Amino acid sequence: MKLIIIGGVAGGASAAARARRLSEDAEIIVIERGPEVSFANCGLPYYVGGEIAERDKLLVSTPDRLRSRFNLDVRTRSSVEAIDRVTRTVRIRDLASGREYQEAYDKLILAPGAAPLRPPIPGVDLPGIVTLRNMQDADRIKERIDRGVTQAVIVGAGFIGLELVENFVRRGVATTVVELQDQVLPPFDKEMSKPILDTLRARGVTVLLSESAEGFEESSGGVNVRLKSGRRLPAQLVVLGVGVRPENKLAVDAGLEVGPRGGIRVNEYLQSSDPHIFAVGDAIEVRDVVSGEPTQVPLAGPANRQGRIAADNIFGRAVRYRGTQGTAIVGVFDRTAALTGASEKALRRAKLPFRKVYVHPAHHAGYFPGAEQMTLKVLFHPGSGKILGAQAVGGAGVDKRIDVLAVAIQAGMTVFDLEEMELAYAPQYGSAKDPINMAGFVAAGLLRGDHPQLDVESVVAAPPNERPFLLDVRTPQEFASGNIPGAVNIPVDHLRSRLRDLPRDRQIAVYCQVGQRGYLATRILLQHGFNASNVGGGYKTYSLFQPDCHSGVPATS
Ligand code: FAD
Repeated sequence: MKLIIIGGVAGGASAAARARRLSEDAEIIVIERGPEVSFANCGLPYYVGGEIAERDKLLVSTPDRLRSRFNLDVRTRSSVEAIDRVTRTVRIRDLASGREYQEAYDKLILAPGAAPLRPPIPGVDLPGIVTLRNMQDADRIKERIDRGVTQAVIVGAGFIGLELVENFVRRGVATTVVELQDQVLPPFDKEMSKPILDTLRARGVTVLLSESAEGFEESSGGVNVRLKSGRRLPAQLVVLGVGVRPENKLAVDAGLEVGPRGGIRVNEYLQSSDPHIFAVGDAIEVRDVVSGEPTQVPLAGPANRQGRIAADNIFGRAVRYRGTQGTAIVGVFDRTAALTGASEKALRRAKLPFRKVYVHPAHHAGYFPGAEQMTLKVLFHPGSGKILGAQAVGGAGVDKRIDVLAVAIQAGMTVFDLEEMELAYAPQYGSAKDPINMAGFVAAGLLRGDHPQLDVESVVAAPPNERPFLLDVRTPQEFASGNIPGAVNIPVDHLRSRLRDLPRDRQIAVYCQVGQRGYLATRILLQHGFNASNVGGGYKTYSLFQPDCHSGVPATS
């Protein structure tokens, strides 16, 4: 067996190492355009910021190590220029000498990744406008900052953009983020990204939403970024972080099938439309685990797993790739945001039925010092309770909860399973009722009809004459520090003695700070014959939907 792998980083290096473990006899050639293989793209922003101090730490492996440990024929600074499917050969160009030569294959794995988008904006090729994909890009950015950048603009508030923002601020660079959408972190639902927006602004980052770069102009100090609004931002460095595009040229030229967004089409064994050619990583189209629809998800975990699976299939183990659910996490200063499965907006776009709950628990027992509050949103099927997606934002413990929910989605679990989940608990790690259980209790209670729930957006969006009677059951102090306009305050502890003050001919929307006292109040009112519903996630959730209301995800609860 002669296997050629195009691309030697996440997907390609994983495939090569797995292939060798499965076959000592195979001839395995890795062709990589860059000078390095198997480097940690995900660490690049932190190298720029100095948190990863040594460049070598980013090299997960080196060509020499791959040669000696895995007996791989690694050819760096070499680019595959074309695939001839009839003769089963590739044309390789040695980038140092310019020499071109053919190499035959029995099987080919395409792992060429995705290239950062450079939108065709006037001036986009000026010096000082860069993208970040590999070590050389990171070197260039770091070098410029070392030379003394004071003002930078990052176009795009996605994962890589925001990771760079944090690291630029760490280096003392005044940074402005320009984002086309009306929120940061577009894969998240808008309200769940609000604490991250608040954090960025609190750290002095200028964030311009619903704004776009329309042109770049050379200036004496660097570049002026011309915005749609007409505003001009001076900068010595501009980073474009507006997304990636699958590197599909080789595949397209070879006549392989690609999807509408350019991802190389593969079957569940990661085989392209040519059975001798497999494809993995950012370059491919995958099946969305929740919707079943084709999609593209450029993440390291899927790329690594796909590399392994492609090698398995080539060496006789029939292994299916289950699809991708988009589990991702990002740290922005001291905040963490993570998600898995479908977002609310994706479910709406796909017109799939869902219900949702928000909980705002502490990441570990509230009585133990250092408890940090998180917001956890869980989306689930209104009939079966099957979990469709989850998002969390907060500090410590966000990663753990999203990982648990990611597994739950893979296992096809329901919100009723979340009620029953037995998770590790000691006060410094969790709670006897973990945030996962809490989300399960709320969601399952909803489906059982124990506590009818109203979504806060629907309450607020209703015209005033159609709004339910809004009942705030928090303390007068909490009420005074901020409330939903039009609400009447009766603390839950006084509710039983104040029932005569409540209307029997109108729906009552009850809310508290996070939903728990609202739940109790709703149960009291229902049993006294009122038409009551709890506003999901309470005032805390309401504040996530209010542009002028600081979401105030506090460091400690
Ligand atoms: P890549 O890792 O991009 O490797 C493809 C390689 O193929 C490239 O080195 C390229 O030079 C080479 N190549 C392409 N065409 C040819 C050719 N014709 N001939 C020879 N070689 C070729 N994901 C996460 O899950 N978490 C994170 O925190 C995270 N952070 C990231 C931060 C940054 C700055 C970046 C850039 C990405 C990050 N990602 C993260 C995404 C993750 O790195 C990618 O999803 C993953 O690397 C994709 O693996 P891949 O093998 O498909 O492509």
